[in-house]
Amino acid sequence: MVNTPEAQFAVDAVREAGQLVRRVQAEMVTDALVKGDKSPVTVGDFAAQAVVAKRLADALPGAVLIGEENAAELRAASGAETLAQVTRFVQSVFPDATPEAVCDWIDQGAENGGAENGDAGEPPGAFWTLDPIDGTKGFLRGDQYAVALAYLRGGAVEIGVLCCPELAGGVTPAKGDDGSVVLAVRGGGAQVQAMDGEPNDWTQLSVSAVSDASQTRMLRSVEKGHTNMDAIGQVAQAMGVTADPVGMDSQAKYAVLAAGGGEMLLRLLSPDRPDYREKIWDQAAGSIVIEEAGGRVTDLDGKPLDFSHGRTLANNRGVLATNGHLHQAALAGLRAIGA
Ligand code: AMP
Ligand code: MG
Repeated sequence: MVNTPEAQFAVDAVREAGQLVRRVQAEMVTDALVKGDKSPVTVGDFAAQAVVAKRLADALPGAVLIGEENAAELRAASGAETLAQVTRFVQSVFPDATPEAVCDWIDQGAENGGAENGDAGEPPGAFWTLDPIDGTKGFLRGDQYAVALAYLRGGAVEIGVLCCPELAGGVTPAKGDDGSVVLAVRGGGAQVQAMDGEPNDWTQLSVSAVSDASQTRMLRSVEKGHTNMDAIGQVAQAMGVTADPVGMDSQAKYAVLAAGGGEMLLRLLSPDRPDYREKIWDQAAGSIVIEEAGGRVTDLDGKPLDFSHGRTLANNRGVLATNGHLHQAALAGLRAIGA
């Protein structure tokens, strides 16, 4: 149900950005992996943010964007080669784009919502937040990644969209090259469509009905540095879970939970980064997708996610998402291991 200009913009923009980063991956990643080079992520991130920011300015003039990237690195002399590559990809969408315009579009999403990488400053009352490539490690490995975009008003997420180019239609944990676009609107449910399919062909998403904790299928990050693998194993044990957690990069995990392909998702704090606080663009879209599919999302203490503190979830520790039925059991499991 795409019945507002905001929802229509969001769906169109993430699909277009997803198609763009897929082209970046196809052209650049194979080579880069051999060289241990991260430039495809850099180019894809910048190009996708430029395109989404430009589309937002055209579709909803005056709207505020808080994106993960800013163009400072591209404007420096040392960034000229990267900027040329970014511009080439942006021109596949906007043929007349110049390097200067690309930097300006990227920076439309850079200066809002508090200090760079920090929490200071009053966030605007209503704004969009974008992760142009969520799950950069998955993008480089050829696993899951997502373009994540959300609209927030008064500290609450109103719209969330995810484009997951490697998530099979129907949103199972399986990889599939048809890709998925997921949309959630507050009070309007969550739905999915094939990334390259018929634009009006939506399928409702709903979480699994499993309420026996031992049957929980857990979803977690692939990267050790983003979570605490040992503690996730201990929570699983405390809940009597037998199956091994499934590792998946990006907010594709949130889409899988919303579709009933898993029951529980944990972002525990990595022992290397105990003070890490989640970024809003890593949680906003995914959290509304799960809630509108009937699930529940809190932090590890059972507190609602608080999106009213600029670029980070400064008042929350980690994330717990479940199908709802298993939320109390999961919180009890977390308490049992002192997480
Ligand atoms: P995942 O795909 O689940 O591994 O999560 C990817 C996201 O984790 C990225 O978008 C990063 O913003 C975020 N991230 C980066 N460092 C950390 C960290 N130390 N702890 C938790 N998340 C992190
Ligand atoms: Mg991210």
